[in-house]
Amino acid sequence: MVNSPDRAMALIEELYQGTKDVVTKRISQLEGALGSTGPLQKWDMEYAKQILITKQTGGFSPQDARQYFQVAKVIPGLLQFARAVYGVKLQERPEVKTWHRDVIVYDVYDDNEERDDLMGRIYLDYLFREDKENHPCTLALTTGVEGKQYAEAVLVVGLERELGATMHFWDATACWHELGHLFHHILGGKNQRYHRFSGFEGMQYDFIEAPSQLAEEWLAES
Ligand SMILES: [Zn+2]
Repeated sequence: MVNSPDRAMALIEELYQGTKDVVTKRISQLEGALGSTGPLQKWDMEYAKQILITKQTGGFSPQDARQYFQVAKVIPGLLQFARAVYGVKLQERPEVKTWHRDVIVYDVYDDNEERDDLMGRIYLDYLFREDKENHPCTLALTTGVEGKQYAEAVLVVGLERELGATMHFWDATACWHELGHLFHHILGGKNQRYHRFSGFEGMQYDFIEAPSQLAEEWLAES
């Protein structure tokens, strides 16, 4: 524990000294990519990053990658990732009533033959709607309580609904990020055994974000 302002300041100073060279180098790379003479502005950051990625990868652009991320394929891809990485079986439940017909529902089972039991339920609300909060997020509906209820959570993103629609690489990254939160909540909430470590409550942010960062890295590396 930090315990005192002096120790907090010492910690900040230590972090600053440990990261300033890397950050300074990164900023000058981004400024170089923009070709600007002044200091890098926050609102230019994403644009500069795109130029830099294109330069460093010999022509790859996150925008060009759209063709590989068709909305119709990304959702099955997300579920395939969940099955393979989190060791779960998913059963679609079309009969479950939800708040909108776009929402698809799956029950999540443990894929271990000896523990073939229900772990929770996920809702994917993934298509853009005018009257919806379309910003990517994961919302917990219930936490797991042994003998009473299973963990349930919703993944929200706002992907284009037109036939053949594609998405920007950053939007695909957001889908994998939220999937990390979704399964962190479901797997941790199972029968409350790991409830202390599940999804969103009462933990350090770096721990909360870790499964999502790993899922993002998997996508980027693939
Ligand atoms: Zn997050």
